[in-house]
Amino acid sequence: MNKAESCGLARHLQLLGIEPVNTARDADIVILNTCVVRQNAEDKVRGMLGYVKGIKAKKPGMRIIVTGCFVGSETSGLKKLFPHVDYFFQPGLNTNFEDWLYSIYMISKPGEVPAIKQGGSPVSVYIPIIQGCNNYCSYCIVPFRRGRESSRPPEEILTEASQHVASGAREIVLLGQNVNAYGHDLDPRTGLSELLIQLHELKDLLRIRFLTNHPKDMSTSLIKALASLPKVCQHVCLPLQAGDDQILRKMNRHYSYGDFQALIRQMRQTIPGIAITTDLIVGFPGETEEQFINTRRAVEELRFDAVHAAAYSPRAGTLASQEFADDVPDQVKLQRLHTIEELQSKILCEINQGLVGTHVDILVEGKKGPKWYGRTYSDKLVFLLSEHDLTGKLVTVAVTRASPWSLQGIT
Ligand code: SF4
Repeated sequence: MNKAESCGLARHLQLLGIEPVNTARDADIVILNTCVVRQNAEDKVRGMLGYVKGIKAKKPGMRIIVTGCFVGSETSGLKKLFPHVDYFFQPGLNTNFEDWLYSIYMISKPGEVPAIKQGGSPVSVYIPIIQGCNNYCSYCIVPFRRGRESSRPPEEILTEASQHVASGAREIVLLGQNVNAYGHDLDPRTGLSELLIQLHELKDLLRIRFLTNHPKDMSTSLIKALASLPKVCQHVCLPLQAGDDQILRKMNRHYSYGDFQALIRQMRQTIPGIAITTDLIVGFPGETEEQFINTRRAVEELRFDAVHAAAYSPRAGTLASQEFADDVPDQVKLQRLHTIEELQSKILCEINQGLVGTHVDILVEGKKGPKWYGRTYSDKLVFLLSEHDLTGKLVTVAVTRASPWSLQGIT
């Protein structure tokens, strides 16, 4: 999300003739787009603010702007703490920032939707479609920093997507903290499946992905859209977070492990071969050995195509940090993390070995060293050798080798 937002901001600035430079020391304007999902990320932001303060002391005309999750709706506290920062704005509120920028530099405002340079889009582009989150999971700071869910109008998304496709993109990845709540706040109300149907019509667009999904918002209409629209990749990122009902309640996730299992069953019955990836937190406050074993069992039973596991760390400002003691020792957290990673690596070896000898279609995104790389519909990374320029092409590959993290193949 931050990467997509930074690219969008860069496009706006380039429209005004403001060009990127390589170091903060050479810049007239420094924009910090921050992530504070973990405490150590926030500590890095504070460190970076100290660093640019030093530069500004020697270059007083320099403007420092801060956006991203470091900035909440109330900025007076931040202004007092960081008086060297010229402007704070919340993620997604670019219009306020641009108005400020135009007034500072006395320049006139260009059209609302910035043009994208011909041929300037990568093969796969990120497009944020919804900001914020209404869910208040007890460990998460996002709703406090990014605010409530706010969807972009479908027409605006379609315009941006068509511009990217016209300038070379072949895959669009729709982004949101809770992407499957898209459109519920719009008038008239709409949904992600309707948006997927509209995007599907774009000529020359080959693939569409979306992430991340809250399990409780994974509707039957969205599952049907996934099953029936060939350009929509059969890959869903569905964070489970824990396989134990008591822990899920403490996390305020609004589903039980049984609900999650039933959802996975429904998706796999409707879309055979669908790839499902997940996120997990181990060592949540009060997590007993037995509760951790329930999470481990969930990984064994559900056989995800990827698991992004993290050890719990308290995040100041969240409900969990106020209400629960961080009482699982670090060493135990690390052991649990290691157990999940080892188990998942074994599962992925088995899943990927099953693909050796089969053919998969990949969209080639570029080259790393001598090899081209791309992803299958189910988001598996594939490498292959070819003398031809395969950028942006759909290629059928015979899989010759597999590791837990990637496949090797030939055309
Ligand atoms: S759904 Fe995701 S973004 Fe929203 S509160 Fe929960 S973890 Fe945070």
